[in-house]
Amino acid sequence: MTTYWCEHALLPGGVRRSVRVVVADGRVRDVLPGVAAQPDDVPLRGIALPGLANGHSHAFHRALRGLTHDDGGNFWTWREAMYAVTHRLDPDTYRSLATAVFAEMVLAGYTVVGEFHYLHHAPGGRPYDDPNAMGVALIEAARTAGIRITLLDTCYLEGGLTAGGHVPLDEVQQRFSDGSVKAWAERVDLMDGDATTRIGTAVHSVRAVPGPDLAAVGEFAARDGRPLHVHLSEQPGENLACEGFYECSPTELLAKNGLLTEATTVVHATHLSEMDIGLLGAARSTACFCPTTERDLADGIGPARVLHDAGAPLSLGSDQHAVIDPFEEMRAVEMHERLDSLERGRFGPTELLGMACLHGYRSLGWDDGGVIARGQLADLVAVRLDSPRTAGCDPAQVLYAATSADVTDVVVGGDQVVVAGKHRLGDVGSLLSRAIAAVRR
Ligand SMILES: [Zn+2]
Repeated sequence: MTTYWCEHALLPGGVRRSVRVVVADGRVRDVLPGVAAQPDDVPLRGIALPGLANGHSHAFHRALRGLTHDDGGNFWTWREAMYAVTHRLDPDTYRSLATAVFAEMVLAGYTVVGEFHYLHHAPGGRPYDDPNAMGVALIEAARTAGIRITLLDTCYLEGGLTAGGHVPLDEVQQRFSDGSVKAWAERVDLMDGDATTRIGTAVHSVRAVPGPDLAAVGEFAARDGRPLHVHLSEQPGENLACEGFYECSPTELLAKNGLLTEATTVVHATHLSEMDIGLLGAARSTACFCPTTERDLADGIGPARVLHDAGAPLSLGSDQHAVIDPFEEMRAVEMHERLDSLERGRFGPTELLGMACLHGYRSLGWDDGGVIARGQLADLVAVRLDSPRTAGCDPAQVLYAATSADVTDVVVGGDQVVVAGKHRLGDVGSLLSRAIAAVRR
């Protein structure tokens, strides 16, 4: 049993001072506000937040940070650069890279990641001896880095969509495909979760999975109550192609095939019609916004407040990892709304933290995390209140001032993975440098 004493802690009722959090077997056994620290308590200075969820990640995209800005370009030219990175990825290089990226996430305050995983096979689409070698590499990486993972194993069958129909997989995309929903589901079924791992599902997009196959993926996900994620309307081009071929929007296509449920998370949801928003809200599907990616790729600003008001909870992800900073993602949702609406306070701090914590955990299939309360997973993130950025701020408004550099301690399942700003694996910058060099060589 370990007891953490928090100078401040964000509890379900708000921020409280002097909070003892008693932890046993990876869970919170008791929460005692307004009590002095005991001699054996582990102190967490500043404010302790619940664990923060990174709802949408492609770990290998981290290798592109700071490399794609010289020639302008767009989403589709960025995608070419991203595909080039895949040539050096095999289970060993991917394990090393993902370990470093996940360590960077924990250092930034993320305690669970939804890894949207589609790089399944060797070049040419040839399965590895273990057909889940790449997924297992990601799970092992998360375990080493000390972060929970929901592996969102992604169905990817076609190379794209035009008004004339789906197009064949190109050479790179062959590595993403199992050939059929049946083969994909059989492979996913071979994997098991554990105390820090969940196996979820994903459809890459309506570009990559044809209409008739969507329903089959949804049935497989529902069979075992797995979360189902899907990229949705990140680019106007996807909407145009879908309208041209299916005569409906991507959201409508998902709805027609039974994919919009409470277990579904649509990622980006940037370019939506009123009807799309109504469908997502009525289904209570989650919308995972990735604001630092969406601005990096010039995607646009999604209808965050409108979706929320329609009934769709929001979660947050860092997606391509141009930035790994949960505070930046939370803030960006509100700041993008301000620029778009000319109003402040479109989302309050409690709502923004709810996206990153509670709804983030729920969207990844963890119904027992993202809140500091008795019986919940013992995931805590301590943020200092005396840094050059945070000095003087109201603890309840820390997310408007802090960056990932202000995270001092991170506890996952009761274990302290980050202590005084240091990850247990050592220098994460060096880990990243080596792992990125290996895939760019
Ligand atoms: Zn993505």
